Amino acid sequence: LGRLYGPITAMSNVQVDVMTALVSFERVLEVLDLEPMVDDAPAAHDLGDDVARRGATLELDHVSFRYPTASEVSLASLESVAALTNDPTHDTLTDVSFTVPAGATVALVGPSGAGKTTISQLATRMYDPTGGSVRIAGTDLRDVTQQSLHDAVGVVTQEAHLFHDSIAANLRYARPDATDADLWRALERAHVAELVRSLPSGLETVVGDRGYRLSGGERQRLAIARMLLKEPAFVVLDEATAHLDSESEVAVQAALDEALASSTALIIAHRLSTIRDADLIVVLDGGQVVQQGTHAELLAAGGLYAELYHTQFADGPDALAPVA
Ligand code: ATP
Repeated sequence: LGRLYGPITAMSNVQVDVMTALVSFERVLEVLDLEPMVDDAPAAHDLGDDVARRGATLELDHVSFRYPTASEVSLASLESVAALTNDPTHDTLTDVSFTVPAGATVALVGPSGAGKTTISQLATRMYDPTGGSVRIAGTDLRDVTQQSLHDAVGVVTQEAHLFHDSIAANLRYARPDATDADLWRALERAHVAELVRSLPSGLETVVGDRGYRLSGGERQRLAIARMLLKEPAFVVLDEATAHLDSESEVAVQAALDEALASSTALIIAHRLSTIRDADLIVVLDGGQVVQQGTHAELLAAGGLYAELYHTQFADGPDALAPVA
């Protein structure tokens, strides 16, 4: 069943790193020498009040999307390299509609290339839809300032990118004024405090490409700690597909549970436990929503979800007892 959750392409990895970097959007764009694909509208307002008043409901309303072609983006931008691979005659998403109610968790599932990552990029306004609208708290993302959107949204990607810097500095990208006590609280909640405590330099341990070698699961837990520190109203999470040892797997799951409990969440889900616990599962295929429902509803209905479930999970190590 490799076709279900195959590796992300090198091109989308560029995107993934950029998404992780949204914890400190301006600074990271500067570091990566990227230009944002979207601009603030002249009358853009801050999102904070809308979210406080109405909750962080996310709605995709008849969304279609086609990646910009090379001629539409600056050649100086890395995006243009990705765009060169795009087929300009074909929409990546077609008429996608679903709602993530405030406080709920929605899982996106579907074969590789179905459009899950693309949806997460529209939800964080890396791009604007070419048709329809994306709204948080009832407000079209095109009408809010990007900075306020990035303050409201926390992103954790598969890559769980860490900067070549100390753990403390990596965490403070999310909240520069956080005290050490705040950092430790976030590390505890993300089930990674014990690891950090065991490192010779503790919070000052330098991680990242040339730093202390962390496992995939440890990196993802640190990225979750960084997100928890930010206390975002809305969470976009790309669950790690990398094989984690079972201890790491349990710890990552516990960290995810913590992250999902306190926010509205859109999650590109790969683990059955995450999918099964979601309030709503949106099944994508070829850029379209083909099914929506709970795990039990979708299994009973048959179709792509049931097919994915039976091939991916039913006999595998993540298999669970049948749902009542
Ligand atoms: P996976 O499970 O493999 O991560 P996915 O469901 O997340 O897949 P997307 O990454 O959203 O799928 O890709 C949807 C389609 O859009 C694919 O055909 C992909 O090749 C294409 N695509 C993704 N990123 C870009 C880009 N930057 N430019 C052009 N096309 C892209």
